[in-house]
Amino acid sequence: MVSRKDAMKQFEENTGGNRGAGFFNFVDVAVLGELGFQEYKSTFGDNFIDILDPNKGEGFFWKEVFIHSNVGKERRTFVCPNKMFNEPCPMCEEIQRIYDRGEKNEGTKKLLSKLYAKPRYLLFVIDTSSEDSIASGVKWYDAPPIVISSITAACKNKRTGEHTDPTHPTNGKGISFEKVKTGSENYDVKYQGFALETRVPIQDSWKDLPSFDEFLLHSTYKEIDTHYSGVLATTPVEEKVAAPVEPVQTEAGTSRRTRSVSATPVEEKTEAPVEAKKEEQLVTEEQPVAEEKPMSTKERLELIRKRAAEKREAGN
Ligand SMILES: [Zn+2]
Repeated sequence: MVSRKDAMKQFEENTGGNRGAGFFNFVDVAVLGELGFQEYKSTFGDNFIDILDPNKGEGFFWKEVFIHSNVGKERRTFVCPNKMFNEPCPMCEEIQRIYDRGEKNEGTKKLLSKLYAKPRYLLFVIDTSSEDSIASGVKWYDAPPIVISSITAACKNKRTGEHTDPTHPTNGKGISFEKVKTGSENYDVKYQGFALETRVPIQDSWKDLPSFDEFLLHSTYKEIDTHYSGVLATTPVEEKVAAPVEPVQTEAGTSRRTRSVSATPVEEKTEAPVEAKKEEQLVTEEQPVAEEKPMSTKERLELIRKRAAEKREAGN
């Protein structure tokens, strides 16, 4: 693992300009919601965030995710299997085929820039714009590259060239920035005025953060290819789920029962608004033991995955 300072420096040196992204989810929004992490959305005007660190001071405090957006007629978004999982990617293969043809006209350039996998950055943040927003706890933020490069630049000491770690438990900094509308389209947006602020004290309940690796939607080659080729996917939804489900061995195991809920397709699940109810069921009705000893985020995540697998099995 590289140090936080080196990681921030390295990011600054390696990243190019600001590149946009498309629509649809590429992380498992539903499971993040079940764990109590709502999505942070920046607003036009001033924004104030404190960034939290899921990586205990090492490497990056964000997760860089490469996605292909606007894929096929449904304009879907997929995590690039090549860049993220070191697996073959139909979109990257298509890019290679276009390259190999050797055409260098404007149309080809435009097509390539549409097909490229583009980076997004996932962060855990506290919205510090008001007492209420602070009280609403940890949120996850799908940040565009310009936000990350601007934060990294704001954290750089101009004299020494060293970076301050904004997430540091004692010397960390809050971040303020302005989001400005520059035109009529959705993408006509500018982020500016990044500055360091005083942080609010880190609460204990903000410290137990999962890795974003757990939430990346891992689509199959076939699924992406089918969408790209223009035929709608008929791939079973199970294939979308990334991590193999590991059985949870907890004392509460005996008290858990499978609810007779019909299997919900993953797609529907990820786009549905997150209900707080789900979590209540999880900790009170199905997991009475949890009242005595609060479950860690990791334990809750394992339980959610296990229940999802049980639901799928029940549906088969
Ligand atoms: Zn790819």
